[in-house]
Amino acid sequence: MTLDNAAPANGSIMVVGGGISGLTTALEAAEVGYEVILVEKNPYLGGRVAQLNQYFPKLCPPTCGLEINFRRIKDNPRIKVLTLAEVEKVSGAPGSYDVAVRITPRYVNENCTACGACAEACQTEIANDFNFGMDRTKGAYLPHAMAFPARFVICPQIIGTEDAQRCKEACKYDAVDLEMQPKTLDLQVGAIVWATGWEPYDASRIDNLGFGRYQNIVTNMMLERMAAFNGPTQGKIQRPSDDKAPQSIAFVQCAGSRDENHLPYCSYICCMASLKHATYVRAQYPEAKVYIFYIDLRAPGQRYEKFYQKIKEDPNVFLVKGKVAEVSEDPHTGNLTVVAENAVTGQKIHQTVDMVVLATGMQPTAANVKLPADLKYTDDGFIINDFEKGGMFAAGCANKPADVVSCNQNATGMALKAIQTLKR
Ligand SMILES: Cc1cc2nc3c(=O)[nH]c(=O)nc-3n(C[C@H](O)[C@H](O)[C@H](O)COP(=O)(O)OP(=O)(O)OC[C@H]3O[C@@H](n4cnc5c(N)ncnc54)[C@H](O)[C@@H]3O)c2cc1C
Ligand code: SF4
Ligand code: SF4
Repeated sequence: MTLDNAAPANGSIMVVGGGISGLTTALEAAEVGYEVILVEKNPYLGGRVAQLNQYFPKLCPPTCGLEINFRRIKDNPRIKVLTLAEVEKVSGAPGSYDVAVRITPRYVNENCTACGACAEACQTEIANDFNFGMDRTKGAYLPHAMAFPARFVICPQIIGTEDAQRCKEACKYDAVDLEMQPKTLDLQVGAIVWATGWEPYDASRIDNLGFGRYQNIVTNMMLERMAAFNGPTQGKIQRPSDDKAPQSIAFVQCAGSRDENHLPYCSYICCMASLKHATYVRAQYPEAKVYIFYIDLRAPGQRYEKFYQKIKEDPNVFLVKGKVAEVSEDPHTGNLTVVAENAVTGQKIHQTVDMVVLATGMQPTAANVKLPADLKYTDDGFIINDFEKGGMFAAGCANKPADVVSCNQNATGMALKAIQTLKR
């Protein structure tokens, strides 16, 4: 049976969030014949995975997998992608929802060839959100080198300024449209899958760990960007205060997670992420020492256990069972001292290092701002799937902290749930 002969779509499916989970749900549903509208608030698809340097456990670049998904989207006329788009309102019932989607102007239309002339002409610089503010980008920018759609964005701050005019004049393709206005689309769909993902927990809220006060403390997601060839340091892991190559790095596990004052749950991936980060550091600096301070090291399943065992064999990686109480700084050198109690020996440890990485956890995006739909949440903001009611489902990290493989499996399941709603 060809796809065209598959059962015709009885209404369409809206997928909110274009990270790996949303992409998977959208593709799985579209490739068996259903119409899908993919709504993403960023100007590009891929979500947090687009910010990662490598995937554990294979240590391959996530861009490969994303590229394949983007190709599948390009080739599939059943998927309509809306970027810079957010759901404003949902009304109706399973099988028949009315959804208002607000589109924020990009000020660049589909003629864009991503030639970059507007960015060259633009004089304004803004903090680069994609790199967590570790560098700056022009007011006319491509969100990142592998962005899909590969279309520039003009930031709203320069609209109405001479800089905006300069961008327009520099464009040979008539792609800059400074008159673009926000608009709201009213769409009818039969089912909605919320794949709105996660945010890194705000590390500055963990007072004793010093993030935001001491320059040489970064988060795990910042390290991902630093290690990426298209990141703020072109792939070089270095101390923010003096660009020095670190000879010792400490990782603080459960930074905010498993803590009643912050995130009471285990974020599932941050032990594996730090083990992976140890490989980034060791590949760049063969002499460097890596200290991982943990409460419990979680490497679930056979493949992850193998990965953990391999890192454990590295004589320059020290796994220390002990919760970090404090990180302090020597203001003259920028060096940091990590204070913890070794849970095995009972000894108090004061480990001085060049740099500290906080393994901050995942907070669902809905933790701070609830979605404009009738959904149930856990106390921590994860969406609870109400399969009895049906119609709307949560996929991936919107539902629970998860790695990419689990997100893909779960997102495929939610595509099926959405299809079942349309068939009823
Ligand atoms: C430091 C670190 C390293 C990691 N490394 C790995 C690894 O090596 N291997 C691995 O398997 N996993 C890894 N992970 C986990 C991985 O990042 C997640 O599994 C993955 O990002 C989950 O994808 P998602 O689509 O559910 O969420 P996200 O990636 O967060 O995507 C959600 C998307 O929804 C969009 N969105 C949010 N709200 C709205 C809204 N209201 N309207 C429209 N759009 C919205 C967002 O902009 C985003 O594009 C790592 C995590 C961390 C913290
Ligand atoms: S908007 Fe125009 S100048 Fe800017 S990248 Fe696109 S085509 Fe080039
Ligand atoms: S995965 Fe590891 S670091 Fe992350 S919360 Fe769980 S135990 Fe802590």
